[in-house]
Amino acid sequence: MAPFTYTAQAARVVFGAGSLQHLGREIELLGAHRALVLSTPEQTGSAERIATLLGERTAGIFAKAKMHVPIETAREARAEAQRLGADCAVAIGGGSTVGLGKAIALEAELAFPILAIPTTYAGSEMTSIYGLTEGGVKKTGRDLRVLPRTVIYDPELTLTLPLALTVTSALNAIAHAAEGLYAPDGNPVISLMAEEGIRAAAASLPRLAADPRDLEARGDAQYAAWLCGTVLGQVSMGLHHKLCHTLGGTFDLPHAEVHTVILPHALAYNAAQATEAMRRIRRALGSDTASAAASVFDLARAHDAPTSLRAIGMPYGGLDRAADLAVQNSYPNPRPLERSAIRELLQHAYDGTRPD
Ligand code: NAD
Repeated sequence: MAPFTYTAQAARVVFGAGSLQHLGREIELLGAHRALVLSTPEQTGSAERIATLLGERTAGIFAKAKMHVPIETAREARAEAQRLGADCAVAIGGGSTVGLGKAIALEAELAFPILAIPTTYAGSEMTSIYGLTEGGVKKTGRDLRVLPRTVIYDPELTLTLPLALTVTSALNAIAHAAEGLYAPDGNPVISLMAEEGIRAAAASLPRLAADPRDLEARGDAQYAAWLCGTVLGQVSMGLHHKLCHTLGGTFDLPHAEVHTVILPHALAYNAAQATEAMRRIRRALGSDTASAAASVFDLARAHDAPTSLRAIGMPYGGLDRAADLAVQNSYPNPRPLERSAIRELLQHAYDGTRPD
């Protein structure tokens, strides 16, 4: 067994169909009295439901969360939290809404706990990573103040997640686990979570394709989101996440779709230098003959997810710039960052070529 360091991050997880009923108890355990409820405009109805459940512990609703947390939205939410005297955030939604809660917590003068109620599989609720976009540039960082203190995973709240986003969001989760398996600061516990997360996410998809309201399968997908989000929060990510961050931020491509398209190609790039990780990914996906990269590609294609950058709006002229940005600063990755090979990777991703 190789030496390792393992730091557990303390988040309380309440899991299960119907677990939203415990919201009042959980807010009380946090010692909070005035919650600012956060959501996107599309999920205003869910935010109103949360406000009703919280009753007099609701300070107000701020339903303007947007993807990649524009600084203007963060400032408006912070001002609203202050005006209402809020002492915590309850974020119901995907990574964009949880991200807004993080933006408030980051600047708050006093501790500002976040209670997250995730409704996608992005995994932000399990990490201390925050992101803010200013002048078209997205900056990210890690700060323990933004790690949600409590997470309520209630699969019933994901029944409305459209099937297309269900598939790409599950692949987004798989991407965290896949890179966690070759992270230089990985450890055996995180690897267990990663492999199980990939298995559970992949196994949920055929069942959800057959019936998006299959509550048991929704539960399995959220269990996967929890595991994969934990991996993302605990170990370093490599080339795949760097590329997705660049493509999403610079070319404004949709988050979960970018992850879905890039992952097979990032795995192919790293395959020879991360053979044990590839073996575990293949095992988790139940692949007999195909490589890890091809198996992920096949999983996306089998569920009608996008498999090319062209299909999700990437301008062809941006590929060179994306390759330049990917090698601009160093980060851990099993295979050294080679600009020409990354440009080739992006070409394959643009064309939607199935990797070997
Ligand atoms: P999202 O939060 O932007 O949600 C996408 C859309 O789906 C929104 O309109 C949302 O309202 C809607 N939606 C969410 N759940 C729904 C449901 N159950 N039913 C119906 N509609 C629903 O998408 P996302 O992929 O969850 O998050 C992406 C953002 O999160 C990106 O900005 C990404 O960078 C960030 N992120 C951050 C971390 C982190 O650790 N900091 C991790 C993952 C993602």
